[in-house]
Amino acid sequence: MHEPALSHLAASDPAIAELVEGEARRQFEKIRLIASENYVSTAVLEATGSVLTNKYSEGYAGKRYYEGQQYIDQVEKLAIQRAKDVFGVEHANVQPYSGSPANLAVYMALANPGDTVMGMALPAGGHLTHGWSVSATGKWFRAVQYGVRKDTGRVDMDEVRELALAERPKLIFCGGTAIPRTIDFPAFAEIAREVDAVLVADIAHIAGLVAGGAHPSPVGHAQIISTTTHKTLRGPRGAMLMSDAAHAKALDKAVFPGLQGGPHNHTTAAIAVALAEAARPDFRDYAAGIVANAKALADALTERGFDLVSGGTDNHLILVDLTSKGVAGKPAAQALDRAGIELNYNSVPFDPRKPFDPSGIRLGTAAITTRGLGVEQMPQLAAWIDRAVGASDEAEIDAVAAEVRELLAGYPMPGWI
Ligand SMILES: *Cc1c(COP(=O)(O)O)cnc(C)c1O
Repeated sequence: MHEPALSHLAASDPAIAELVEGEARRQFEKIRLIASENYVSTAVLEATGSVLTNKYSEGYAGKRYYEGQQYIDQVEKLAIQRAKDVFGVEHANVQPYSGSPANLAVYMALANPGDTVMGMALPAGGHLTHGWSVSATGKWFRAVQYGVRKDTGRVDMDEVRELALAERPKLIFCGGTAIPRTIDFPAFAEIAREVDAVLVADIAHIAGLVAGGAHPSPVGHAQIISTTTHKTLRGPRGAMLMSDAAHAKALDKAVFPGLQGGPHNHTTAAIAVALAEAARPDFRDYAAGIVANAKALADALTERGFDLVSGGTDNHLILVDLTSKGVAGKPAAQALDRAGIELNYNSVPFDPRKPFDPSGIRLGTAAITTRGLGVEQMPQLAAWIDRAVGASDEAEIDAVAAEVRELLAGYPMPGWI
């Protein structure tokens, strides 16, 4: 049953209550390997579901356009202070609605339409908002894109430097959505300095690892840090922009009034709660556990003949090229979902197949680590993945799903009792 209970919802809107209940059960019964997802704590759920959703508070603490901010100002100030403490930054803005608008605010703060910007190409592991052609950031700016080397699957810093020197971008984005390796913030910073660009570290995927000391921090290297709060950081759906003091004003103005209206105060409160959780000593063990699980799963998959982009992982994420297994990403992801293992199909670098029917799958270990699974379960998980991907009939897939459900019954999920 969903926790907190949905008794009022069930009484007033049984159709939605039933769907939420169904989704909660689905999350309980599946091995969730979508690299951008997690389970938030029940405390974060309660803050997200609170009456703070009723309040308008355009502006910033002490400078609002609406009255009645006696509590909201304190909530937002606490969230900001906790962000500064957890990440060691001079400035934090906790109002962006999500990662994409947060990144758009960076462009708005520091560039003009038509300016040259640089980011990692989407098919190589970058994010849409780093200048990919279909995104506003690729349409309204002159975006140049770097990728990874074909032989290593890793970013080639010499190539990044050459491109930056040739194109002289105003902004350089590092980070992405399908990067299984450590991001070399000092190397990006050196290039940005050389071409007089502002370096933006988008740590949406790895924020929890940075907070927990399991990935190097961009602080001191990137002037701007953008992050979502709902991936490895284990908070509500939302985002933050962090920076040095010099860029604080421009970022704040871009978020409000530049791009957004009223902040989502229930989300701000839940971000504050998640940041307090991330500041606790056990979060360091959690972050280390995510990486240990990813490495163990990567090793077990490699042993079973799976071909991992870049040969492995340094973080929470594994990108698998299924070409060697003779199956495409989409049918594999669909079979795995039926087998109780949820992930997404994903392009691999230099993918000869189309983005909607690519060669790979992407896996992440944040959610299963939250759930309490450890390195000792990873060989079993790899075995199930192998069985489901290679299954010749539905009975085999059903058998895996039953085994998955049996294992997970012993691992509690926040939000479900
Ligand atoms: C997830 C992600 C975003 C966008 O976040 P949304 O909240 O989905 O808009 C931006 N950048 C990176 C690198 C991401 O992984």
